[in-house]
Amino acid sequence: MATIGFIGLGNMGAPMAANLVKAQHHVAGYDIVEAGRNALTESGGHAVATVAEAAAAGDIVITMLPAGPQVRSVYFGAEGVIANARPGALLIDCSTIDVETARAVAAAAAEKGLEMIDAPVSGGTIGAEAATLTFMVGGEDAGFARGEPILQAMGRKIVHAGPSGAGQTAKICNNMILAASMIAVCEGFALAEKLGLDAQTLFDICSTSTSQSWAMTGYCPVPGPVPAAPSNRGYAAGFTATNMLKDLRLAQQAAGATGAATPLGAAAANLYQLYVDAGGGPFDFSGIMQFLRRPEPGK
Ligand code: NAD
Repeated sequence: MATIGFIGLGNMGAPMAANLVKAQHHVAGYDIVEAGRNALTESGGHAVATVAEAAAAGDIVITMLPAGPQVRSVYFGAEGVIANARPGALLIDCSTIDVETARAVAAAAAEKGLEMIDAPVSGGTIGAEAATLTFMVGGEDAGFARGEPILQAMGRKIVHAGPSGAGQTAKICNNMILAASMIAVCEGFALAEKLGLDAQTLFDICSTSTSQSWAMTGYCPVPGPVPAAPSNRGYAAGFTATNMLKDLRLAQQAAGATGAATPLGAAAANLYQLYVDAGGGPFDFSGIMQFLRRPEPGK
């Protein structure tokens, strides 16, 4: 049993923290939003009032924040994690952020003698709730060895991808693949609909055929075939389209910097930009189904 400070109790952080509590860890958590703090209290954790309190509360500090700017603001400064963490604490950032920020925060932590690993996740809110996430970890061997048993309470597969930032590299590649495959699944179901083929029939065929993918069988963007998917609850997130667009931009920045050819990744980024501009940002990323479907007026 460990004492853990947990900062960022949103769609992912709240169920992840709940699983740490279930595994008998003592969790003291903070979120700027009251609903996040309440979610932790309801699951048996202890809510605190500031980042500094959460940082000082544990031998392990975990963060699950939206993007790089929030990670920088939570870790840096007099009220931040690095200034307030216990001596010898292990810092684990599970947010999906740019590699540069991940390395900068880890370097600042190291200057204070604190070990830090980047450990972004795959598996969505369904995986966060079921403790079946995949963690992609960047950092030194010692940090990975210390973090692995904690991450096991929230996930099924923990992979040491390489040095600091390697977890984030794996994550942005994963999400670029996911976005492109989600759009492809949506287009297939939208075309079938136009041709008069029932969604469940298409699902029954494709889910055991060559087009099978997690976007289809784990997170189907049409209601019905996968009951736990956000499509069954009006595309309430889940994983917001805004966050998917953020990850696609990170992938495009990295592709530009390295000269990698990612034409489908670029097309996916453009489509998610259009969906977000049309008001889809707060909805689940699978909600792009509604955007691609282009229902006729009045339907
Ligand atoms: P979210 O927006 O639901 O949660 C983020 C939480 O951080 C919010 O509750 C917000 O209030 C809190 N926060 C922001 N700034 C803060 C601050 N300064 N101090 C304390 N709390 C602060 O996002 P999410 O869906 O939980 O995603 C979190 C991260 O995980 C993102 O980087 C996302 O890309 C990644 N991710 C999400 C999913 C998913 O399916 N939702 C899957 C894999 C990875």
